[in-house]
Amino acid sequence: MTPVDGLINCRRCPRLVLQRESVAPRKGLQSEDYWNRPVPGFGDPAARICLVGLAPGAHGANRTGRPFTGDGAGDFMYPLLYRAGLASQPEALHAGDGLELNDIYITNAVKCLPPENKPVAAEFTACRPLLAEDLAVLKRLRVIITLGSGAHTSVLHLLKTEGLVGRLADYRFGHAASYRLADGRWLLSSYHTSRYNVQTRRISPAMFLDVLALAKDLADGSHDDADLR
Ligand code: SF4
Repeated sequence: MTPVDGLINCRRCPRLVLQRESVAPRKGLQSEDYWNRPVPGFGDPAARICLVGLAPGAHGANRTGRPFTGDGAGDFMYPLLYRAGLASQPEALHAGDGLELNDIYITNAVKCLPPENKPVAAEFTACRPLLAEDLAVLKRLRVIITLGSGAHTSVLHLLKTEGLVGRLADYRFGHAASYRLADGRWLLSSYHTSRYNVQTRRISPAMFLDVLALAKDLADGSHDDADLR
């Protein structure tokens, strides 16, 4: 069994197993059109940047089986990844659409669809080893982008167990906030690209492009002279 086989058959969180398997399909679709399983990470295995979202969307990743694919959050994000030179095409329609990522890998802090997009603490904790595996296989990783405060907090707990951060209160979530880790890599947080945040203008294309440009600069080592925390 490969690690991905192990992941997509995971049933560790009963509430999320029930949720992911009971989504009412969108009009015109059937249950069989839905992935309804844990959603593995996706992207460049040689990536220097890893973007960590919260969890699959009901009719996005939970339907297509690929992070941020097929919903509003991805419709906002992928064209901007393309403009930043991190994606081969602006569209992300389904898992077989030919999209390839360059220098970025995308995953979620929680791999299964949570009710109301709100995982509980025990679910973040249960899924954290799978997030750790995502990050561990990225041997060239330099920058972790956390998308939203939930992902940010879960990544911080993981980094704490690995001895890479000190007091968590010193690593507050904020748009474009960046922190140097004890091993010289970087943590960079961003508002989530959810449809709600886009519609309420909490995040704009320019703001997300700024985060991507900063991530590339950090990966290039342009800020490595900054004081270590
Ligand atoms: S959220 Fe993570 S730990 Fe929980 S069932 Fe899904 S894959 Fe398993």
